[in-house]
Amino acid sequence: MTRLADLVDLPRVPLGTAPTPVRRLDLEYRTDVWVKDESAYGDGKWGGNKVRKLEWILGEAQRRGSSTILTVGGIGTHWGLACALYGGDHGVRTVLGLVDQPVDDHVREQLRRLERSGAVLHRYSSSVRLRLAAPYLMARYRPWYVPAGGSHPVGALAYVDVALEIADQVAARALPEPAVVVVPVGSGGTAAGLALGLRLAGLRTQVLGIVVNDLLRLDPESVARLAGRAGAVLRKAGLHDVPTVTAADLDLPRVWLGGGYGVPTPAGTAEVARATAIGLSVEPVYSGKALAAIRDLDDAGELSGPVLWLSTHGPRG
Ligand SMILES: *Cc1c(COP(=O)(O)O)cnc(C)c1O
Repeated sequence: MTRLADLVDLPRVPLGTAPTPVRRLDLEYRTDVWVKDESAYGDGKWGGNKVRKLEWILGEAQRRGSSTILTVGGIGTHWGLACALYGGDHGVRTVLGLVDQPVDDHVREQLRRLERSGAVLHRYSSSVRLRLAAPYLMARYRPWYVPAGGSHPVGALAYVDVALEIADQVAARALPEPAVVVVPVGSGGTAAGLALGLRLAGLRTQVLGIVVNDLLRLDPESVARLAGRAGAVLRKAGLHDVPTVTAADLDLPRVWLGGGYGVPTPAGTAEVARATAIGLSVEPVYSGKALAAIRDLDDAGELSGPVLWLSTHGPRG
């Protein structure tokens, strides 16, 4: 059993219980599909991949002596909410620059949660206006700025660690070695960390990242660069033989994006209904689109198993 904490000494604030469960996903696929369910990570308060990233982000904030994090997202941001809730528990204030996005019930409920979260909220009608306001926000709060989705290299370390956790589960025969791990890509940190971690763990598993966000640059080059910067953090912390992730290691199709970030697709919504019917907690913005990709590729006979779907999020709006 090897986890990142066994390899490097980097600050981390534990917020959840690992390993998260893996099981076969019975949604009538031809391919052997498994799920690693991250929804419960975070011990009840708010689950999913943002909590994993926050363990490392809050550790780094404490190491830097930063008592305020400035971060950004849409008005339904899962990341901003997780940052506000868990940061507040650990002496870190969250200032959020929020950009309007299409409003549905989930987003409306998220905004209400944000308003109750203790975060300082600044709302803008567009990302251009937010960018123009950034110097003011930096001067007023003197924060550590963490990019959208927590996809700072330090946040991506979380999914390097999760890849090592997957390797442990493969070694323990809880899971067959996946040919591919499918994950939605909203800001790239999860996909970048996984790609680096899978190489580090010596697995042959490929990352198939389903791009769900058209507001950020999310191509193989940019995500590989983020993985490289996460690798640099590990190297600086004393880890030798950190593998290199290249653009060729990342498959990031955009065909399931539909109308753009935050806009559900009919296929994604249909998959959410199917998954909900078997008791999974999923939403249409991220997981619905990843599941629609798995469905289409499975129907087309283009998936070779075993496939591991990383269910990145828990509570529903
Ligand atoms: C934020 C989020 C993602 C995207 O992860 P990134 O690391 O930002 O690409 C995926 N799924 C869910 C449920 C999320 O909230």
